[in-house]
This record gives sequence, C-alpha cells and structure tokens, in this order.
Amino acid sequence: MTGWRALDAELARWAEAGWRCPLWLRDDDAVAASPELERLLALCASAGIPLGLAAIPADATPSLAEPLSAHRDVAILVHGWAHSNHAAPGEKKAEFGAGRPAEARRADAARGLDRLRGLFGDRVLPLFVPPWNRLGRDMPALLVEAGYGAVSGFGPRPAVEAPPGLRWLNTHIDLIDWHGGRSAVDSEALLGRLCRALAERREAPADDPPGAEPIGLLTHHRVHDAAIWRLLEALLDRLAGHPAAAWPAPGSLIGLAPATGHAP
Ligand SMILES: [Zn+2]
Repeated sequence: MTGWRALDAELARWAEAGWRCPLWLRDDDAVAASPELERLLALCASAGIPLGLAAIPADATPSLAEPLSAHRDVAILVHGWAHSNHAAPGEKKAEFGAGRPAEARRADAARGLDRLRGLFGDRVLPLFVPPWNRLGRDMPALLVEAGYGAVSGFGPRPAVEAPPGLRWLNTHIDLIDWHGGRSAVDSEALLGRLCRALAERREAPADDPPGAEPIGLLTHHRVHDAAIWRLLEALLDRLAGHPAAAWPAPGSLIGLAPATGHAP
C-alpha cells in the first residue's frame, strides 16, 4: 500500500497549502446505453464528480441519451468520426494522422460534431478527442475550422502551440494496461505517475498550483474487467471528496459553458 500512502501524503501537502488540484475523468468509445455505462455513471454520481464521455459519432445511437438523462454532470465529447485506422501499414494507428488529406480530416471532424449535436443537443461539447490520442500536426488548426474549441489527447501537451480559439485538455493517467493483458495497470505504477503529476504542479515555480493544468484520468467503460473497476473505485474513493482535489466540469475547464443536461 506504499503508493496509496504516498498519494495521501502528497494530497496532504496540497491541503496544508490550502490548494486544490483540478482533476477530470474522460471515458472513451461510448456508442450506446449498456450496463457498463450505467455502472460508470452511477460511480461518478456517487463520487459526485462530472464526466467527459467521448462518443464515436459514426456509431453512436440515440439510446446513449437515455442513461444520461438522469446525470446532468456528463458532457459528451467528440471521439473522432468512426474510430477507423487510416495509418499506413506498420505505423501507429490513427484516424486523424497527417497521412490523410487535410480536407478529409477537417470534414470528418466537422461531421462528427454535427452528428452528435443532432443526436444529443447541448450535452455535446466542441471538444475533440482523437482516436488513439493521435493527431497530425496540422490538425489543431483544422479543428478550429471545423468548429471546435478544445482538444484532448494523452500525456504532456505537444510542443506545438494550439491556434487561437483552441484549448488543450489532456488526460495523463490511463487505468488500462493496453499492452500487457488489457486489465488494470499496476496500481503502484499508476500511483507513482499520479503523485509525480501532483508534485510537478505543486512545485511548478511559475505556476499558481490552483490554476495548474488539470490532471486527466482515462477509462474505457466498454472493456473494463473487475480489476479496472476496482482500481477506478479505489481512486475515486481517495480523490473525489478530498479537500485538495477539485473536479470542475469539462466545459468550465475549457472556458465553455458546461453542458446543461437538456437533450433536444
Ligand atoms: Zn477510442
């Protein structure tokens, strides 16, 4: 339990300073209502935290709106278009990588936002989540043209500046060990990453910690096994109600009005 004790100690340092670290939860690949989605929504509701739910526009069905109707703090994000891999053989999977013509990528990003808005109205934020968290370097500018105000990948923000009008809201802590059995990541390794992310923000000399870049947790409800659910529950148990943790809605994190929870 070393990692959990280290997390408690790090959070105590924030609390002593009177600071709260912003955190958010992004869950990817939503397409329809399911028992797994219900479980995720219930977990977020009991923890009292909002959720950014990245839906695949081409596959999304109206049934997704039903479980969300009881959960006002859930915003729908745009997860690419069809989660199709367009990368060349041997390259890492990507739907919006630089290998595709820019116009095709811009058009797919625009119709993803249009389709989800048509299905779910103002529950949808103009926040683009590229499948596999991969984007061509020219994609941020294309996203602005396609109507987006924010983009969310994984890990540190890229060195390229976002164009005016576009904000980054990345995730940093993936609960799934994609390359080692697709169950939960080793909790000690995850807690080490989480503690480092907290400490970096607390110690950042030029940054006021309360205004630090939010730390994003990343889940995929459709493929969670028992171990992944347990890890998520344990994390939220520790983090959701802690006085050193803040859980602003994704819309407010990117300077947009939060989803109001009213479907058309
Ligand atoms: Zn995905």
